[in-house]
Amino acid sequence: MLYIYNSLSRFKEPFKPIHEGHVGMYVCGPTVYGDAHLGHARPAITFDLLYRYLTYLGYKVRYVRNITDVGHLEHDADEGEDKIAKKARLEQLEPMEVVQYYTNRYHHDMEALNVLPPSIEPHASGHIIEQIAFIQQILDHGYAYVSNGSVYMDVERFAQDFPYGKLSGRNLNDIVTDTRELDGQEEKKHSYDFALWKKASPEHIMHWPSPWSEGFPGWHMECSAMGTKYLGERFDIHGGGMDLMFPHHEAEIAQSCAALGHETVNYWMHNNMITINGKKMGKSYNNFITLEQFFTGDHELLTKPFSPMTIRFFILQAHYRSTVDFSSEALEAAEKGFLRMQETYARLLKLQASAETQETIAKTVASLRQQCQDAMDDDLNSQVVISLLFDSAHAINTVHDGKGTISAEDLKELQSVWKTFAIDILGLRLEGENAGNEQTTAAYKGAVDLLLQLRQEAKEQKNWATSDRIRNQLAALGFQIKDRKDGFEWTL
Ligand code: ZN
Repeated sequence: MLYIYNSLSRFKEPFKPIHEGHVGMYVCGPTVYGDAHLGHARPAITFDLLYRYLTYLGYKVRYVRNITDVGHLEHDADEGEDKIAKKARLEQLEPMEVVQYYTNRYHHDMEALNVLPPSIEPHASGHIIEQIAFIQQILDHGYAYVSNGSVYMDVERFAQDFPYGKLSGRNLNDIVTDTRELDGQEEKKHSYDFALWKKASPEHIMHWPSPWSEGFPGWHMECSAMGTKYLGERFDIHGGGMDLMFPHHEAEIAQSCAALGHETVNYWMHNNMITINGKKMGKSYNNFITLEQFFTGDHELLTKPFSPMTIRFFILQAHYRSTVDFSSEALEAAEKGFLRMQETYARLLKLQASAETQETIAKTVASLRQQCQDAMDDDLNSQVVISLLFDSAHAINTVHDGKGTISAEDLKELQSVWKTFAIDILGLRLEGENAGNEQTTAAYKGAVDLLLQLRQEAKEQKNWATSDRIRNQLAALGFQIKDRKDGFEWTL
């Protein structure tokens, strides 16, 4: 039984989907005005892990991850210039050119990290009609007000009927002290009211007609409107980074309750944040290392380039709810760990089976799959899965060194557990010399084994010409062949 930590109840809860066999899952995607950095990699990998595991468990998953391309303003998401419009102004581009450019680059980075594409990737700017309808419902229910062409959520009125601040554990007083005084505040009844629709100022380039003004939706609105459009008025999982809990997700909950009369999400999941050399990522620290910079090593905080799978492995080595601190040293350690994992897997694929399995190895094989599944069932404990796979390396090396034996059936099971958990669920992709999919590796290993068996038979028949020819030609291709009492061994 899969247990996931629900940020709303603050408990690990057994996962029960609304519709048997199906899961609806929404994850807040990027605001596409710059290159993706580490802060983007963590939620993408966390929810990719969840998506892959739910699929492994047999669920049909509809995974929606949006693209924010309008309405995400500079300050507290709700005030200041639109991030995309600002980039477009600075670069003298059409806003949609900025959106397309960074969306393409985001996809490229996600592909490098082996993050599977979502089932639906809706753009906020493509769902203005749905957002206007959603705002109208909130107004009709009396939980919002129009002020100077903008529409604001009436948080105090809302809080009389529904709990507000439950997700982030804040009350209205905390929120008042947290809210900065910015322009637009004088339009609001209270500083904690947030924008559902903003009237566009004359210089604002992205705007649409609405019943209230020529303007644009507030940032929080897109996820409420698109989540319910594609997943229904009640759906299973909503995810994102912990930094989105407030105000973004709290606002989403309020909007849904105000429009529909109930919460839409059953399980709220949040990944923890990443620090770099112990510091929060921030402009003042100059530590926004983009993924591209990690891949090329082109940043003063990096000693060398790091491959996408090193980044993925590093993130998966920690539980998604713990903080992760990035440093070049920690990444170098992860790189070594991932290399060791790949070498072990490559060795496993080349092991020779014997008639039976030695007892200690049999124990490892018998329990490994269930242990890995138990770890994943425990709120996606990828950290434990990785250490379990490393523990099984002992059995693999014992057989490899000729100090133990494994039967064909057990070998197949051990290879299948590794393939399932390391490749399919953790989503690690073999790199460099270990690259090529394992199907090819298995076929290639089979072909070399077959040639060496033919050579063995030729030797038994004293057909030295054939046996030498196979040996010499394989050697010329770079294979090292060692004859052993019970057969042969080869490496490339
Ligand atoms: Zn969102």
